[in-house]
Amino acid sequence: VDFGFRTVRREEKAGMVRAVFDSVATRYDLMNDLMSLGIHRVWKQVYISALQPRPSHQLLDLAGGTGDITFGWLSKGGGPVVMTDINASMLSVGRDRATDRGFTGDIRFAVADAEKLPLPDGGFDRVSMSFGLRNCTDKDAVLREARRMLKPGGRFMCLEFSRVTVAALTPIYDTWSFKVLPRLGRYVAKDEDSYQYLAESIRTFPDQETLADMMRKAGMSRVSYRNLSGGIAAIHTGWRL
Ligand code: SAM
Repeated sequence: VDFGFRTVRREEKAGMVRAVFDSVATRYDLMNDLMSLGIHRVWKQVYISALQPRPSHQLLDLAGGTGDITFGWLSKGGGPVVMTDINASMLSVGRDRATDRGFTGDIRFAVADAEKLPLPDGGFDRVSMSFGLRNCTDKDAVLREARRMLKPGGRFMCLEFSRVTVAALTPIYDTWSFKVLPRLGRYVAKDEDSYQYLAESIRTFPDQETLADMMRKAGMSRVSYRNLSGGIAAIHTGWRL
């Protein structure tokens, strides 16, 4: 696995990802706001509308973390959710937030690796993965599992950092992610390594077209994407037909 600064083995990457999210779980929401200057909230609103929540639709939230997508879906009238994450610390922050917001009855929680889901085929109308795919080692396996989880006619959506397509943004973005972010990590969150990991994982993530191709190879149909904020992030979608 090319991890940016150095090459690490697959098991090592999985361990590092676990350590990062164990370490940031309680500060994760603050960290997101700092990292994106609050813009992730706008992206998530756009993304949740694109998921088209409906009371009759069931959602599988992969790498659900502290629950932003699940809560957005339920607030907009979506049906029952299975919220999963590989990391019990993140999921437990999500469960506390769900209780605080009164969502408990509509959500089932499961610690699960998105690369190998312990769930039967075809149970969901929507499968979502928001800012989770870049942390997974075998992304093709995740996409195959996402398709397997969908009912025929169901839709997969992915929100993830992507490749900046507006040339004028590139120098600002590079300075932000490689100079400012690690310093924010050091001084604000006292966790420079986690921020460094995040900047690296963004840089090495497949660009828009590559991810779209990977989704097609995983068996998804009518694959498309739209850029957010000049390609800093992108929403990809595909169907199981
Ligand atoms: N979806 C949430 C959001 O948009 O705010 C949380 C995203 S958070 C950046 C990434 C999450 O991916 C973490 O909670 C982490 O534990 C989870 N994760 C990493 N590898 C995973 C895997 N293989 N399977 C499932 N979740 C994973």
